[in-house]
Amino acid sequence: MNNIIQLHDKKFVKYISAQEIDEAITAVANQLNKDYTEEPPLILVTLNGAIVFAADLLKQLQFSSVLSCIKLSSYQGTQSTENMKTLIGLNEDVKGKRVLIIEDIVDTGKTYQTLVDLLNEKGAKEIRIATLTMKPDAYKLDLPVHYIGINIPDKFVVGRGLDYDGLGRNFNDIYQLYTD
Ligand code: 5GP
Repeated sequence: MNNIIQLHDKKFVKYISAQEIDEAITAVANQLNKDYTEEPPLILVTLNGAIVFAADLLKQLQFSSVLSCIKLSSYQGTQSTENMKTLIGLNEDVKGKRVLIIEDIVDTGKTYQTLVDLLNEKGAKEIRIATLTMKPDAYKLDLPVHYIGINIPDKFVVGRGLDYDGLGRNFNDIYQLYTD
């Protein structure tokens, strides 16, 4: 398998192996199985990126949960933008419920904050987040990020659901933007 892939105009180099990612997902699943024995949460998957992580994660969860999806968008190419759009809204009643957000990546936290505001407004009882990857150096919020698969540097990555302008989500490994 290639260490370097080309997506549109950019090259990406292999950065985290599929095996390491699988192990991180199992560790998150194990923790969730311990933490949600009492009252399973509604699982809220952020489209499109988190579907790959969610699929891997959900297969390892031992509790039954309702699954819902939401689609927000703040990225264009490899740059975060200030415009947060709701492309597909929340259609589940979250009032009085525990909610577990499933994210592919937490970068600045803007998406997370938007989701927390929305869920609080709708009366969610508890909000937690599980993310496959997190960029601690880019994160700007005080809100806790409860379950983190892998912490990564503040550099653009693709693979495992993460895309560059629509491409790259299918790769099993995670690739980092390559600058030569
Ligand atoms: P935040 O709102 O935390 O700044 O960014 C979260 C969203 O931005 C993610 O759900 C993802 O869509 C996108 N994003 C942030 N960093 C990256 C990255 O390194 N690679 C890709 N493909 N998307 C990213």
